[in-house]
Amino acid sequence: MKTTDVLRRIEEFLSSVSPKKKLVIFDLDSTLYDVSWRTKQILNDCANSSILKSEFPESAKKLKGLSVLSTDWGIKEALIRSDIQENLKFFDEVRKFWMEHFFANRYLKYDRPYDGAVSFVQHFYSSGIPIAYLTGRDRKRMYEGSLYSLAQCGFPVPPDPQVQLIMKEDREVSDAIYKRDRLRPIVDQYEEVLFFENEPRIIELVQRDCPSVNIVFVKSVHSGVREDPEHLLRIDSRFPSLSHL
Ligand SMILES: [Mg+2]
Repeated sequence: MKTTDVLRRIEEFLSSVSPKKKLVIFDLDSTLYDVSWRTKQILNDCANSSILKSEFPESAKKLKGLSVLSTDWGIKEALIRSDIQENLKFFDEVRKFWMEHFFANRYLKYDRPYDGAVSFVQHFYSSGIPIAYLTGRDRKRMYEGSLYSLAQCGFPVPPDPQVQLIMKEDREVSDAIYKRDRLRPIVDQYEEVLFFENEPRIIELVQRDCPSVNIVFVKSVHSGVREDPEHLLRIDSRFPSLSHL
């Protein structure tokens, strides 16, 4: 599907029924945000950790300068591209450090919105349409950082009553099941729901169990657990301008 198809669908969405009967939902990671900057900063700080500096000084230096691309998923690809040759303990330490900090408040401020993402969300907001961020991030470890980052980037944020930030209470639940279960009661409250998401596994479950949700696939990066969905509206990680709608 082409960008013009998405724009046509959004135009229909914006012009149908009253704003309050519609809801637009955005995933955060790899939908609105390029998270590679978060990973890059975490790896950089990991390189300065005492255990890496003392036990693996040469590899720690290489880790410090490592480039992380917007097209990377997690840290594996960046580590494969590096020429770091180390034992398992090194990679275990790096992975542990990354896991601990990627899913935490502190580094969320390094995320950068994809081109056009802020004005895209703002367009729906200023049309009076309720906005929900539906993220696999868990509230306990990531709420303050998420709120801070959204506000800092210029996205509409709670406690504005037009905006909800929906986060996991139980981090052990899979993102797909959690989102499907949160969407089910929500969709009944609105006449039209538009949902932007990058992860095919989540899209698959929502399509199956919440068929009334209009899904737009954001083609950025994903886990690779499923192929890109076909026959769906899609945009790449450059959000189109809606100013002419
Ligand atoms: Mg995502």
